[in-house]
Parts: sequence; structure tokens; C-alpha cells
Amino acid sequence: MKIHEYQAKNILRRVGVAVPRGQVAETPEEAAAAFDELGQKLAVVKAQIHAGGRGKGTIREIPAQHGVQLVRGRDEAARAAANILQNTLVTIQTGPRGQTVRRVLVEEGCEIARELYLGIVVDRGRASPVLMASSRGGMDIERVAAETPELIFRESFGPDTGLQGYQVRKLARKLGLGGSSVRAADEFMRALCRAFVQYDCSLMEINPLVVTKAGRSAALDAKMTFDENALFRHPELSKLRDPSEEQPVEMRVAEAGLSYVKLDGNIGCLVNGAGLAMSTMDLIKLHGGEPANFLDVGGGADTEQVSEGFRALLSDKNVRAVLVNIFGGIMRCSTIAEAILTAYQSVGFRIPLVVRLEGTEVEKGREILATSGVDIIPANDLTDAAKKVVAAAG
Ligand code: ADP
Ligand code: MG
Repeated sequence: MKIHEYQAKNILRRVGVAVPRGQVAETPEEAAAAFDELGQKLAVVKAQIHAGGRGKGTIREIPAQHGVQLVRGRDEAARAAANILQNTLVTIQTGPRGQTVRRVLVEEGCEIARELYLGIVVDRGRASPVLMASSRGGMDIERVAAETPELIFRESFGPDTGLQGYQVRKLARKLGLGGSSVRAADEFMRALCRAFVQYDCSLMEINPLVVTKAGRSAALDAKMTFDENALFRHPELSKLRDPSEEQPVEMRVAEAGLSYVKLDGNIGCLVNGAGLAMSTMDLIKLHGGEPANFLDVGGGADTEQVSEGFRALLSDKNVRAVLVNIFGGIMRCSTIAEAILTAYQSVGFRIPLVVRLEGTEVEKGREILATSGVDIIPANDLTDAAKKVVAAAG
């Protein structure tokens, strides 16, 4: 589960990480009032969406405007908020569709001397969290990772013991920090690593972590993602969920017990079992098509699940044809065929549907589909199915 920058900063403040003062605003008037409250000459108005790249991202409706803006007065703050709020922010992370901005964070402006990068993820290979740091923080960290990965330093730490003093000193040296900055970095990094473990995060990113001209350090940006499987341990975090940031289809499908991930192609796939879903996507690509999604309806595939799956696929405007690929292991193919027919009729299918069934009672299942009078393209095996659906999608 992702949260907004202002929410992550509230958490960081609680665990003792230095964060600029700021306030959330939903209207230009609130943004102006927030500017006054800060009582500083310089402030920053920042779009709150669950995606990064806001500083370089542009507002679709007013392309000259960016998602993070420096302002030097209450009127400028109000104007920046008016340009951002209720408009669509397009960044490298939102994709071309962008994301509607419903809130801005108005925060005190920092005099930046240096921008560093800090990130924490779980390193599955080492089975432990790992802190990554770079002296090349700021808006180009993706380029640093791609072109000069040796400038990103890593230290893994035990969830129980946390980051050790010697690890901080090692990182500080590599980052070129000296004197009092080392002490500040020590507090900062260790507090972050503790928070990562305490809140069961799967990702934490501070980019940039700045050293100010006055020599202090502060988290100017904050990203936190929580492991959904551990959310039950943190009921207070569930309240931070922002449904408007999550794809509604993905939420509904998740409630029906299916796993659905939208992709950019035009062939909808409905498959039972994650392994079969992966190989179905591979085959579609092998035969020149592009899958529109990953969709695993689980081992069962009953009428309810297939209908919900169909609805998810048909709600995607890019989908030109659908491939149902089901292996009747636990369930009989005859039952699945009935489920497909019922679902087909209840959701109002308008595009070509290719069905490949295999497993228990497959003959009976195929017979049910063939004699139903419903316009379904039957396929005999995986390759046949992939070829037919790629052709149908044009
Ligand atoms: P994103 O990563 O989504 O682009 P950031 O919060 O990192 O958004 O902001 C982008 C850039 O804006 C930062 O790299 C920093 O240079 C500048 N910035 C952000 N917050 C502040 C602030 N409070 N004071 C001064 N500059 C800021
Ligand atoms: Mg950032």
C-alpha cells in the first residue's frame, strides 16, 4: 500500500527524522493561508499523488506548470495551487494518462547545499533490508542508477539489530560527509532504518535528503510503501489508504479474490493459476501480440469470478480480443464452460472471445461451448489459442 508524501512525512517526524514544516491544502485559499502560517519568505507547493517525478512532471491542462513549485508569497502560493489542484499531473511514473491532483503540500523552502539519495528496500537475495545511498540525489537518480550504478552504495542490516554505527560511518565517508554532518547522518539513517522495520515497509525512499546551507539535514521528499501482508499489525496505517489513487478495477477485482495487473497491450487474458497466466502472456508475445493484463482467477474459476474477470477486461478500452485459458484440475471443464457462458451473457461481450479448455471432462466442456450458439472461437491447445487471439485482435 502506498501513501502520500505528506503522510509519510508525518510518520517520519514522529520517529525523529528531520522534515520541513508543512501543511496540506485542498484549495488555493488554504494554500495561501498555509503560506502565511509558515511565516517564511520561501515555500514550496507540491502536488500530492502516489507517483514520483513530480518536479519534472507537467500539468496536462497547463503544460508550462510543474508538480513542484517554489513560491515567494501568499499570492504565488495560491496561484501555484490553483494551477495544480484538480488538474492532471503527468510524470514518468504516472504514464501518459497522468493522475488528478486533489491535494497539495505547502512546505517551507530549504536552502539546499547538497541533494543526497537514500532508499531502503528488502533484498530478497540476502533476506534482509538494505539501505542504499548516493551523493547524486535529486531528480536524476534513475539516470545515476542506469549509467553510474557504482555511485550508489549499499549496506544491509538485520531487522533486529538495525543499522550499525560503523555502517553509517562507511556510508558517510563514501558520500563525502564530514564533521557534524556525520552525526546528523547517523541519527537520520538509523531512524529511517528503524521506521522501515517498525512499520513493515516494503520500500522507503528519501530523494532528496538535503544538507542545507546551514549544515542541517532534512528529508525533502518521502515515499513509503507498506507490505500489504503485514497491514493487519498496523490498523492505524490502513486509514491512510487513498482509494482515489488506486485503480478502481484493481480494487474490485481484488475484493473478488482475483489478481489483476493492467498492462499496455490489447489482448485481455483470463487464466486460472499464476503460472499458466504467465505462460499465456509469454505465448501471446511469442506470436506477435501484446497482453492487456495479467489476470489469475485462482484455482476455482466459478461464475462469479469469471464474470468479475470479464468485467475487468471489458472496462479496459484497449482490449480488442479476449483469451480465456483454463485448466480444469480442481473444477471440471463442463462446470467452467457453463460459468463462461453465464458470465459472457451477463456482462454483454462485444469483442472476439477465444477459449482454450483442458483437463477433467474437457470433451463435455467443449461440447457445451460449441452447442451454446454463443460466438466463441474454440482453440485446441496453447499455441492455437495464442495464434487465434492475436489474429482476432488484429
Ligand atoms: P519528485 O521526486 O516527485 O520530483 P520532490 O519532492 O523530490 O518531488 O521535489 C523535486 C525537487 O524539488 C527536489 O529535488 C528539490 O530540489 C525541490 N524541493 C522539493 N521540496 C523542497 C523544499 N521544501 N524546499 C526546496 N526545494 C524543494
Ligand atoms: Mg523526489
